[in-house]
Amino acid sequence: LSEMPSMADPRQALKPNQHSSEDTIARRERMRKQRDSLPIASVRGRLVEEVKAHDVLIIVGETGSGKTTQLPQFLFDAGFCHDGRVIGITQPRRVAAVTVAKRVAEECNVQLGQRVGYSIRFDDSTSSSTRIKFMTDGLLLREALLDPYLSRYSVIIVDEAHERTVHTDVLLGLLKSVLNARSKSVGGCVNADSKKGNFGIVRKNESGTQSVGFLKQCQGMKFPPLKLVIMSASLDARIFSKYFGGARAVHIEGRQHPVDTLYTLHPQRDYLEATLVTIFQIHLEETPGDILVFLTGQEEIESVERAVKEQVYSLPESSQMIVTVPIFSSLPSEQQMQAFKPAPAGYRKVILATNIAETSVTIPGIKYVVDPGFVKARSYDPLKGMESLVIIPTSKAQALQRSGRAGREGPGKCFRLYPEREFEKLEDSTKPEIKRCNLSNIILQLKALGVDDIIGFDFLEKPSRAAIIKSLEQLFLLGALTDDCKLSDPIGRQMAQLPLDPIYSKALILASQFNCLEEMLITVAMLSVESIFYTPREKSEEAKTAMKCFTSPDGDHLTLINVYRAADELLEKRNRELIGKNETNFQRKTDKILRKWCKENFINSRSLRHAHDVHSQIRGHIEQMGLHVSSCGEDKLQFGRCLAASFFLNAALKQPEGAYRALASGQIVQIHPSSVLFKSKAECIIFNELVQTNQKYIRNVTRIDYLWLTELAPHYYAMQS
Ligand code: ADP
Ligand code: MG
Repeated sequence: LSEMPSMADPRQALKPNQHSSEDTIARRERMRKQRDSLPIASVRGRLVEEVKAHDVLIIVGETGSGKTTQLPQFLFDAGFCHDGRVIGITQPRRVAAVTVAKRVAEECNVQLGQRVGYSIRFDDSTSSSTRIKFMTDGLLLREALLDPYLSRYSVIIVDEAHERTVHTDVLLGLLKSVLNARSKSVGGCVNADSKKGNFGIVRKNESGTQSVGFLKQCQGMKFPPLKLVIMSASLDARIFSKYFGGARAVHIEGRQHPVDTLYTLHPQRDYLEATLVTIFQIHLEETPGDILVFLTGQEEIESVERAVKEQVYSLPESSQMIVTVPIFSSLPSEQQMQAFKPAPAGYRKVILATNIAETSVTIPGIKYVVDPGFVKARSYDPLKGMESLVIIPTSKAQALQRSGRAGREGPGKCFRLYPEREFEKLEDSTKPEIKRCNLSNIILQLKALGVDDIIGFDFLEKPSRAAIIKSLEQLFLLGALTDDCKLSDPIGRQMAQLPLDPIYSKALILASQFNCLEEMLITVAMLSVESIFYTPREKSEEAKTAMKCFTSPDGDHLTLINVYRAADELLEKRNRELIGKNETNFQRKTDKILRKWCKENFINSRSLRHAHDVHSQIRGHIEQMGLHVSSCGEDKLQFGRCLAASFFLNAALKQPEGAYRALASGQIVQIHPSSVLFKSKAECIIFNELVQTNQKYIRNVTRIDYLWLTELAPHYYAMQS
């Protein structure tokens, strides 16, 4: 058997674009033909006219019809970027923003970061010449803090609106105000829709002057009107249309080949095992064609990836080989494009994806879909004020989107790993995120934008009053809001500037006072990525031993810091050696060293690298804010006290039977087996994450002294007792 290409080094596996000029011409020609054959190509002229004629346009079109990659180019060609203005396209997911930007840059034959670029949290590839800018919905919301009228943009395309992320929902509310304010600005032409009075948010205040939403009318300021395009893969555009006063919706006809959907006879106890069996069953029994597998997150993807790689060696010699390609949000961007490249000759590509591949990105070549039927979602209990991640069954709409991915280029097959009767029990569609998440982050941003009346804000769909109040209360307890619910200065204002969860922003601000900002920066970076450690089932003892040299008896936070610093030291040492030797291929060599070290220590090198990037980005913000980055050195007590002061809302006390009781919510929780404090006897702990499976597990746990809570968070703990 030939060795399977290792995806750890993408250069070896799927060949990058090293084409001769002849190849390049052929490739360009192929790409042009492919673009011309997309369903959207035949309605190009009409779509551009629709955008010109309507300030708000809703475009519904099946996944793969060309909405995301083509519409921005059509509008650019139609002159929407004259005067240096920008077409902004928002995506709910980071990977989509990056991969689509790369694809469009290639289609336009420009370098990424020039005319076409992307900007996501912790990674920006735009320049002053960028005219087509892909970004996450969350990032555009942040931009509004600096430029409330979004004056750089001539068109904003809110893509994947059916996903209904909390950022998309709030962004639409903000855009509603911006549209009105800009269409009424003196410089812009008053346009058709404002004459129709399409937007129901113009209201008189006590003095009789008009304000539009929370933005002042920009009299005297010169803004051209803004165009808003909302794109969705779901057929039901009514909610968006209604919200924008009966805005026009158009539908692009898609092309879908038949997909044969198969179910299991019985429910599967272990859906990862069932996934593995199905992948190999397809591989051995079905005709050539790539397989797309939907999993719930990085951890599952990586464990299935390892399992496939192990089993591939037992394939009969005559059969085609398999290459696995992961795609999930925190994957380093140079690896994300691997999913789109054709498999090498003689290989079948198995793409292991999160629900990113449902509608956000369209990967060519898929003929088989494996759908275990689950998705990881946020869930929020407003009474307890606890947000958690839960793995839940998909909705019917999601299941249909997933199976649809098999029929893009020809007839395909979808393997649902549950019995058919289960499908009927699924919810029709997913509940919008705004109804199942902690709102403190979004409220902080709205407050920073000047929206004081959160309950009165014109949401697309209102979150529950209880959730708003609980989140306001949390922000108040973190010191971000004053007694009369205004943004506090400087704490609240500084917290809103940081692109982090309010609780982490506050931890950084506090850490500068506790002299341990260096430690907290590493902590927050490491907590921002998924699964630093991995434990292959068959090597769990080895993994445990390897982990021991990083383990801190105090808990996971210091353990994570130990890992980060050990990697840093290793790289620094190697860098010194390599510099002395006048080495070429410097970056590649250090990468290789880091990967080897990670493998030996059962550390996820992808996550660690991501944490490094996050670290340097946050450090940039912190330094800009003038916070002092210093280390507490060996004084671990100081750091522990800072953790208690920062995460007092997530403290828990040991119960007689070994479980813990979360103090804020009263919930009974267990320490997750992956924690270094699993089986410890710590009396009082703080934690950062709640994960619900059959049990409520807490992760990232550190022991603290209960008295620190009453000393450092008296406003809360005095209230409790
Ligand atoms: P939509 O937004 O309507 O779902 P897209 O514009 O994302 O559709 O994709 C249109 C087509 O472009 C897809 O059918 C897919 O085959 C192709 N495509 C998109 N991104 C890439 C990529 N990175 N590499 C190769 N093909 C791509
Ligand atoms: Mg799209």
